[in-house]
Amino acid sequence: MQIVDLAVIGAGAVGMTFAAAMRDKGFKIAILDDKANLCPPPQTAFDSRVFALTRASERIFESVGAWEFFERNSPFQSMEVWENDGHIQFFCDELGEPNLGYITELWVILRALAQTLQTSSDIKFFTNSKIAALKFQQNQYLITLDNGEELTANLVIGADGANSKVRELAGISLNSKEYHHHALVATVQTELPHQMTARQRFLGSSILAFLPLSESNSCSIVWSVPPTQAEELLNLSIEEFNQLLSTSFAHKLGEVSLISERFSFPLIKRHSMHYVKPHLALMGDAAHTIHPLAGQGMNLGLLDAASLAELLLQNRNRPLGDFQTLRRYERWRKTETSTMMTAMDGFRYLFGNDFLPLKTVRNWGLNLSNQNAFFKRVVMSHAMGLTGNLPILSRLSY
Ligand SMILES: Cc1cc2nc3c(=O)[nH]c(=O)nc-3n(C[C@H](O)[C@H](O)[C@H](O)COP(=O)(O)OP(=O)(O)OC[C@H]3O[C@@H](n4cnc5c(N)ncnc54)[C@H](O)[C@@H]3O)c2cc1C
Repeated sequence: MQIVDLAVIGAGAVGMTFAAAMRDKGFKIAILDDKANLCPPPQTAFDSRVFALTRASERIFESVGAWEFFERNSPFQSMEVWENDGHIQFFCDELGEPNLGYITELWVILRALAQTLQTSSDIKFFTNSKIAALKFQQNQYLITLDNGEELTANLVIGADGANSKVRELAGISLNSKEYHHHALVATVQTELPHQMTARQRFLGSSILAFLPLSESNSCSIVWSVPPTQAEELLNLSIEEFNQLLSTSFAHKLGEVSLISERFSFPLIKRHSMHYVKPHLALMGDAAHTIHPLAGQGMNLGLLDAASLAELLLQNRNRPLGDFQTLRRYERWRKTETSTMMTAMDGFRYLFGNDFLPLKTVRNWGLNLSNQNAFFKRVVMSHAMGLTGNLPILSRLSY
């Protein structure tokens, strides 16, 4: 039987970031994951799982010592959002920033975090370890793995993703709602260079994003479409798909061709009724999932990790897992996530609606907003995690 202070279930980006923030502070930490290999390199030139990281996330990675291990990253300096007659563009110069964020592959993030944690003697990884049972006894949890191994921990962190077993075993209920959209992701080669610009086009019932990768003519695409369309897109021949993709993006980057497989998965909004119980906390996708429209899902999870670490370290005089501290975390992060979810729902409603007067107003609104430097600064500062109720780890300057 292993005895630890903290058991982090899930060695995804969020769980490992939390462990990195808590390392070398005198806690014994176990990180468990059901995968055998935590950060396999991609089979193709680029990982299809890429994320737009905000400045807040960059600072968190920097503060926990992981940023220096990022093997590659693609900073983007502008962002363009458009519908047929409406258009808005954001530039990093308008904010006095070197870029608006980074497009980063998942394997790069996971490998950097694993490298950061490797050096810490407080941390023990348990790979190939699926959590099977949780039992609360004498102010700690007894964790049983599916291979029969047991651990006890004063605080259990559920960072085990959207279908969290920790959430289920802790009996925390979930509000979930289908977006009735699937995300189709792939890597493409473009005829024209992306010029470090992230682009998104609203197409009525679908949203198509091209995210610039570290090679000037490579992009990752996220096409969120109704489920039947996702099926059709997956079944198109490569040539047909390339043609449709290039046209749907109005040949903004010229002819586009697939250089990876296409993957599609359903998009579901999930929000846990509670993020905490005594001696247990959820974070990242285990606590919430949102539409990838604004690329905020992982960024929210990283803020969860940094916020809980901050509160636990500030309240070291209280027992680890104490409910009062955990409730402060829940109130803080649930409020922030709910605000983001409401904003995403508003965007989706506004741009997913073909009602002509609404279409006219939003196109007019986009063009008008494009001329309003103050409005653009406010929107972008918030999206980049430069403003808001942020944890200390995300506020340090680099
Ligand atoms: C198409 C798409 C595009 C996106 N783009 C962006 C973006 O641009 N920017 C952004 O910020 N976010 C984005 N997101 C959201 C982002 O993918 C997630 O929010 C983020 O990956 C969640 O990280 P996590 O560590 O919480 O969970 P996960 O990455 O799911 O990690 C969970 C870990 O737990 C392990 N695990 C699961 N079950 C068990 C178990 N029973 N026992 C032990 N271990 C277990 C898993 O193996 C995994 O390693 C996007 C999402 C989608 C769908």
